[in-house]
This record gives sequence, structure tokens and C-alpha cells, in this order.
Amino acid sequence: MSGERLQKRLARAGVASRRAAEELIRAGRVQVNGVVAALGQTVTDADDIRLDGQLLDTGAVQKVTYALYKPRGYVTTASDEYGRKNVLDAMPPVPGLHPIGRLDRDSEGLLLLTTDGDLTLTLTHPRYGHEKAYRAWTHGEMPPTQAELDKLLKGVMLEDGLSTALSATPASDGAFITLGEGRKHQVRRMLEAIGHPVGRLMRYRVGGYWLGNLDVGEYAELSERDLQGLL
Ligand code: URA
Repeated sequence: MSGERLQKRLARAGVASRRAAEELIRAGRVQVNGVVAALGQTVTDADDIRLDGQLLDTGAVQKVTYALYKPRGYVTTASDEYGRKNVLDAMPPVPGLHPIGRLDRDSEGLLLLTTDGDLTLTLTHPRYGHEKAYRAWTHGEMPPTQAELDKLLKGVMLEDGLSTALSATPASDGAFITLGEGRKHQVRRMLEAIGHPVGRLMRYRVGGYWLGNLDVGEYAELSERDLQGLL
């Protein structure tokens, strides 16, 4: 069995274009036989190749993208060493399917999953600043006022740097927040920084795609039209 360069193998499996596959390898997201892969290494069909822990199928992978209403309590990693419920448990067993970005375990709402590595790179790359919109329910007797939320529009300093909302408006028991990036616990930390810790947090839009009327735990496949409207 002759070898083939890993990035070519990933591209042939439909995971991503060859260039995007190179970025996935550089980002340390590809493993061969349990070891983080190196760019340019050769593989054969006998090798166990995984993207974000998800086994690559030896046949061609169809490009497919789903929207899931992630329930609270599910983790957004491909495998979980603590055996907690994983978002892939809520999905059909499609080879190469992986979440685009993440939602915290305690957060709920719109999570996109795809087999299309190019789409993942485009939607998660900070350079493109795709919007993510959240509804937050805060603890405390009073929801944040517009004057308090204006501080988020100017930017609040978090331990990993300045964090600025694209929009922030009050809602009953909380706020609507839109961000152009996705740092860990970002919405929770921003609202905490202005004295309004968050209980429930739901994402209802990513780019041009809205959660719509998906129920908790339900998923739907995105159409060509949905995909065009997404970016
Ligand atoms: N911000 C958060 O605090 N949590 C999420 O899951 C996403 C954004």
C-alpha cells in the first residue's frame, strides 16, 4: 500500500481543501494513530486518521452542515474524557462531522456542525468576525440597564484582553448581546464584569443563520440557500 501526503488524503476525503487541510494540521487538530499529525507526513488507508478526535472515513465524505439546538449539559468537544454527554451524541453518525466553534456546557442554542473544513475555518477565523447573537438571562433583581450595557459597546477588560460587543440591549431578566468573536465564556464574563452574572445563556444566530423554531435537541440540515445566507 503506497503512502499519500496527509493533507492530500484529508482533501480527498472531502474534509477540506488541501490548503484548509494544511491549516487544520498546523492547528494540531489532526491525529494519526493517536499522535498529533505533522504537516507533510505520509499516510495509508491502514492508518487511523482523526479530525478533532472524529475518525475519518476511508470513502469520500459528503459535505453536509447541520444546525443543532444544543441542550444545556452537552459538551462541544469530539470526545470527552469524563464521559459527559457530547453534542455528537445528538447527531446522526456522519463521518467527519464536527462542531463549528463551541458553546459552553451550560449554554444552549444554535450550534452548527459540518463535514466541510473550509466552512469551519471561515466561520471560526477571527479575521472574518462572523456575528454570534445571544440572549442572556441574568441573576439579580434588576436586568442590566442600557447605560450599563453601553460599557460593553465601549469594551470591558477581561483577563484575556479587551472585549467589545457589537450590540447590547436590555431584555426582560437579561440582555441581548452580539459579538464578532468567540472567546471562552465571553458573554458570561462580559456581563459579570458589569455586575450582572448570567444564569441561562442561549445563542440564537450565527452569521446570517437563525435558530428559528428548532426545539431543544433537534437538528436540521442546512440547504444551499441557508449556506449562502450564512456567510
Ligand atoms: N459566551 C459564553 O459565555 N458562553 C458561550 O457558550 C458562548 C459565548
